Amino acid sequence: MARDALDDERLRREVIAAAVQRRADELGGYLPWTELTDFPLPDGTTVRLVDPGRGGIWNPRDLVATLSILTSPDGPYADRESDGFLTYSYQSGPEGGKNLKLRAAMEHRLPVMRFDKIAKATYQLIYPVFVIGDNPITREFTLALDEQLRLVPGGSQPLSPIEKAYAARLVRQRVHQPAFRARVMLAYEGTCCVCTLKHPELLDAAHITEDGAEGGDPVVTNGLSLCKIHHAAYDRLLLGITPDYEVRINRRLLDEIDGPMLRHGLQEMHRRPLTLPRHQTDRPDPQRLETRFERFAAV
Ligand SMILES: [Zn+2]
Repeated sequence: MARDALDDERLRREVIAAAVQRRADELGGYLPWTELTDFPLPDGTTVRLVDPGRGGIWNPRDLVATLSILTSPDGPYADRESDGFLTYSYQSGPEGGKNLKLRAAMEHRLPVMRFDKIAKATYQLIYPVFVIGDNPITREFTLALDEQLRLVPGGSQPLSPIEKAYAARLVRQRVHQPAFRARVMLAYEGTCCVCTLKHPELLDAAHITEDGAEGGDPVVTNGLSLCKIHHAAYDRLLLGITPDYEVRINRRLLDEIDGPMLRHGLQEMHRRPLTLPRHQTDRPDPQRLETRFERFAAV
C-alpha cells in the first residue's frame, strides 16, 4: 500500500480516536453502545465504531485494517489478558474473513481501538492497542495494550521481572485506573456524592480504602464519586463519611469564618446525606467507610 494512503489512514484513525476519547471523558470515561454504533465526528460525518452484530472485530469498508475490537468478560471467545498483552481469538467465519484486516493492522503497524465492556451496554475505550503477533496454529492474535509494550518481546516468550513490573505499571495506568473511574462515574451517574455537582470533568473516582493498601481494590464499592474539592477534603480528613452515608466536616473548619467556598462548599455539607448509586450493589462498603471514618474522627 502506498505510503501516503497509509499516512491518511493513520491520521483518520487518530481523528476518530481523539473524538471518541473526548466524548468518553465528557461522560466520565465510558461510552454507551448506542453511541458506538453511530458516532458523530467533528467534520459533521458519522462513523460506525463497532460491528452492528456485536461481533469482535470491526472492519469498515473504507479502511485497510481493523478499526476496533470488542472485548467482554462474558463474550463468546476466550480472550486472555496478562502482562499487558491480550490474546485475541480468530473470529470464526469464512477462511480469513474478518481476521484478514486485523492481520493488516499488524503488517502496517496501525493502531486499533479496543472497546472493553465494563457494564451492560457500556464500554471503555483503550487506545491505541497494537497487533504484534499472529499464531495460525492456535488461531490467536497477540495485542500489546500500550504503545511502549510493542518494544517488549511479549506474547511469545516470558518477560523478565523488570519487564513484568514495567508492563504491570503501564497496564494499571492505561487500563485498570480508567476502568475504575468509568465504573464509579457510571454508578454515580457523573455526580459528586457529597454536593451533587454533575460535571464528570470536575469529578474523581476516589478510593475509600487507599489504592495500594490492603482492601484498596479498584471496585465500585471501594469508590466514591467526588468533585475535586471534596476529594481533596476527604483525603486530608477534613471531610468524613459515616458508615450510614452521612457527611461530616472537621470541627475546626466548621468554626472558621471565610468566603462562600468554605460556607457553601464545605460547612453546609455537614450532616448532609450522601447521594448514592441507584443500584444497591454499587453502594459504598460500610465496613471500609467505618475504618476510614475512624481516622477522620480521630483528627
Ligand atoms: Zn462535591
